[in-house]
Amino acid sequence: AKKLRGNQFRFYESEMTKELSRRIHIENELAKDLKERGVYFHYQPQIDYTTRHLVGFEVLSRWNHPSLGPISPLEFIEIAEESGNILKLTHHLMAEVFSNMTRWKKQFQFTKPVSINVTPYLLSQRTFFDDFFDLLERYEIEPSMIELEITEDTEIVASEETLANMRLCKDKGIRIAIDDFGTGYSMLKSLSYFPVNKIKIDRYFINQIGKDPIIESIIKSIVDFSYNLDCQLVAEGVETYEEAEFLAANGCSVHQGFYLEAPLDALEFEEKYIVKTQV
Ligand code: C2E
Ligand code: CA
Ligand code: CA
Ligand code: CA
Repeated sequence: AKKLRGNQFRFYESEMTKELSRRIHIENELAKDLKERGVYFHYQPQIDYTTRHLVGFEVLSRWNHPSLGPISPLEFIEIAEESGNILKLTHHLMAEVFSNMTRWKKQFQFTKPVSINVTPYLLSQRTFFDDFFDLLERYEIEPSMIELEITEDTEIVASEETLANMRLCKDKGIRIAIDDFGTGYSMLKSLSYFPVNKIKIDRYFINQIGKDPIIESIIKSIVDFSYNLDCQLVAEGVETYEEAEFLAANGCSVHQGFYLEAPLDALEFEEKYIVKTQV
């Protein structure tokens, strides 16, 4: 028994070591790939299901490492956040998207808003907002074309700094969306702290449509609730016809999900959604 415990201990130890060394490896590789542009971005449309019009789009980070393979943003965003690389990553993301948006506006008269994910750490950093506002000016982007998506995976600390930055955004006309709505710890609190323009109903609720009548009535309440607060609404992770129909019938017609469109690379997004809007 003693021997077994010894082996188990070694097993856990080596698992932990493996995990830690992967983390350190990822941290170093991410810093390198950010410089060499090994990190890139996908664009997922938000579409009005009833009219099939494009309403806006969300930009999502992608990283395909030469030896580690594709790494989920769920893994590398957290590491970027802890290692300070999130500022650089978000800078690259905004620079690419803004430059595309400027070109799309000139060439195709395209003027749909972009949604950008921001972490709680970034929200508290004035240097992030200074860089963000600089980029807006450099690319001549209207602040109303930008929506910041705030997730509630971790509790948003309403520090003085964060609140001041949010006020700055509001004054400029930058929009705020609550991401993953319904899963966070403090969703009702953040609705009263921040000037929220949009609520994104988390995929967890959407995928229970047709399966769980309680979740279905929660969705209906979120719809009522968003009308009362004068917030726009998006359903995330809509994967089936049944989900799309239920949502549209119950007052939520803007959908983002595989049923209508998966995240696309910039070129594919441009060909399918930008060039087309001209005609
Ligand atoms: P999120 O902000 O909730 O983004 C939506 C996620 O759902 C994306 O995953 C998207 O690919 C996926 N998705 C879209 N439609 C469907 C669907 O119909 N079914 C399913 N099962 N999934 C769908 P992705 O790209 O893997 O990103 C995961 C999370 O990583 C994001 O969740 C976001 O929290 C974070 N993330 C991604 N890129 C960035 C970034 O540039 N900055 C920050 N701060 N976070 C990012
Ligand atoms: Ca998001
Ligand atoms: Ca989400
Ligand atoms: Ca999320």
